[in-house]
Amino acid sequence: MSVKVDPNVMKDLEAFGLKDAKKCYHCGNCTAICPLSTPENQFPRKFVRYIQLGQKDKILQSPEPWLCYYCGDCSLKCPRGADPGETMMVTRRYLTSLYDWTGFARKFYTSERFEIMAISIVALLVGIGLLVFNTGKPDWQHASLNSLWPKENIELADLGMAAVLSFLLLSNVFRCFRFVMGDLAYKVPFKYYMDQAKELILHTVTQKRFNECTDRKQWLVHLLIMTGYSSVFLLVVVFLRWFQRDQEIYSIWHPVRLVGYYATFAIMYGTTYAIIGRLRKSKPPYKNSHPTDWMFLILLQLTTMTGIFIHFTRLLDWPFATYFLYVIHMMVAIPMLVLEVPFAKWAHLAYRPVVLYLLKVKAQYQQEQPAEASVAVAA
Ligand code: SF4
Ligand code: SF4
Repeated sequence: MSVKVDPNVMKDLEAFGLKDAKKCYHCGNCTAICPLSTPENQFPRKFVRYIQLGQKDKILQSPEPWLCYYCGDCSLKCPRGADPGETMMVTRRYLTSLYDWTGFARKFYTSERFEIMAISIVALLVGIGLLVFNTGKPDWQHASLNSLWPKENIELADLGMAAVLSFLLLSNVFRCFRFVMGDLAYKVPFKYYMDQAKELILHTVTQKRFNECTDRKQWLVHLLIMTGYSSVFLLVVVFLRWFQRDQEIYSIWHPVRLVGYYATFAIMYGTTYAIIGRLRKSKPPYKNSHPTDWMFLILLQLTTMTGIFIHFTRLLDWPFATYFLYVIHMMVAIPMLVLEVPFAKWAHLAYRPVVLYLLKVKAQYQQEQPAEASVAVAA
């Protein structure tokens, strides 16, 4: 079988942040030490090889980059300082751009200027939108967001945005599915996808394979950020009418308030831990920070902090401060959602569990094939 070689792969990956892969002399230490590498799916040495040889198709069809959670054990043990953990991280950025049919993810990951401009433009549009589209009758006696931006209108805009984001993300996930499943994409009967559906839910919610890494703290921090962010997303997009209440302040034990407090704690703890780690370069995953890593952490912290301020100005019943902070909050939160979910850092939350799930589907199908074939022959 012929293998297509693209001599530009190494250079291309350098645009995504690759630095030290050229130093690798293939001793295999990294693969031996990786707690998540298995005989069926070995990594990370194999990827350094693919990159050095320019085997773009192999990279595109491989599930392994999504099996790595970037614990950094391999980078600590690499005798050449080739940072294989970082190579896997960069490969995930590269794959995210290859799955994305719009080409936007590529621009986002390879141009800091484009990233800042895109976020600024979306933020500006949101600010102008909120200033133009409001009732024009603010309540200056009490802090009432609904008096300016009725929750029904915001809910409608939220659902529209969620529909567009879902379409973009799911169409990219579909491309990921086709690359990873290869020839089996349309051969595997639906029953196998149903049989393994629980794996998809399990990996999405718990990221349990990350917990098999030696650095458990990293798993916990990742889980806190993910669950905190997802809770807020659900509160403001799906359950907004129960979340944005003006007249009725819920009791402190109300479930909506408890979920809000959990999300605030989880995001603030997780992002502060990650920011300090990246500033100090305290462990391999924090050694090389890509501009998109910083942008994501900054936007998430700003969104949460402005959310906390709004919570207090509403409790204190300060109308002007509440309306002003709300505009700032939306100008930070919407660009983060619109750009990060389908095109950048957040997309991995979809790709990783999907790929783990597809591997299970494939394994079950391949395991049952000989048995089914022999039953057919006997009949
Ligand atoms: S990345 Fe480092 S540990 Fe891994 S094979 Fe290359 S030299 Fe060896
Ligand atoms: S970073 Fe951790 S999970 Fe990823 S390849 Fe290295 S050892 Fe394995």
